[in-house]
Amino acid sequence: MRLVAATRNRGKIREISEALSGLGVELIPLDELPDPPEIEEKRETYEENAAHKALIAARHSGLPAVADDSGLEVEALGGAPGVRSARFAASDAERIAKLLKLLKGVPFERRRARFVCVVAFATPDGQVELFRGECHGYITEEPRGEEGFGYDPVFLVPEYGKTFAELGLEVKNRISHRARALRKLRGFLERRLSDEGSR
Ligand code: IMP
Repeated sequence: MRLVAATRNRGKIREISEALSGLGVELIPLDELPDPPEIEEKRETYEENAAHKALIAARHSGLPAVADDSGLEVEALGGAPGVRSARFAASDAERIAKLLKLLKGVPFERRRARFVCVVAFATPDGQVELFRGECHGYITEEPRGEEGFGYDPVFLVPEYGKTFAELGLEVKNRISHRARALRKLRGFLERRLSDEGSR
């Protein structure tokens, strides 16, 4: 199966390709399509953003496509920054500084947060399947660790007592919201490919 990855983020392309390894899926990055489409993310839910991106890529290419949308939800902030996580401030450092400022003085037990990821699979005829993954943790008072990206240095995973940025990619890519959603996509594609094979 040839599958378009509707993202320009190299890290995400690598994660998707690792999550689907061994399935016989040839992953085609968006930018390798002739005349690749511009895709904006302006909708109100992860599901709508992911489905929109996957559908545009599938219709444009005539091939099935996958896309994801993700964000960080902080309980004490009523779920913010949520679907607007990327637009919360101009850079990773500013996003973290803004988050820590908003949470100043909030005690540990009220700093509960979760990362959410929704992966969408779409076909050129408009079929859409959605897969959701979550990872639960707490927002630290100071950034810790050097790895990863985005809010990783302030997202503490209680089972490990470490932030995503301290855990490193190998562990993060097993337990993260994106890894969980991608495992569900893998299960779906395995069933779909075996159905196609038996027809
Ligand atoms: P998008 O899914 O590319 O729209 O990204 C959403 C935003 O959520 C990113 O810009 C990051 O700020 C944040 N985010 C999503 N997943 C992660 C993660 O695994 N670590 C840190 N930040 C993340």
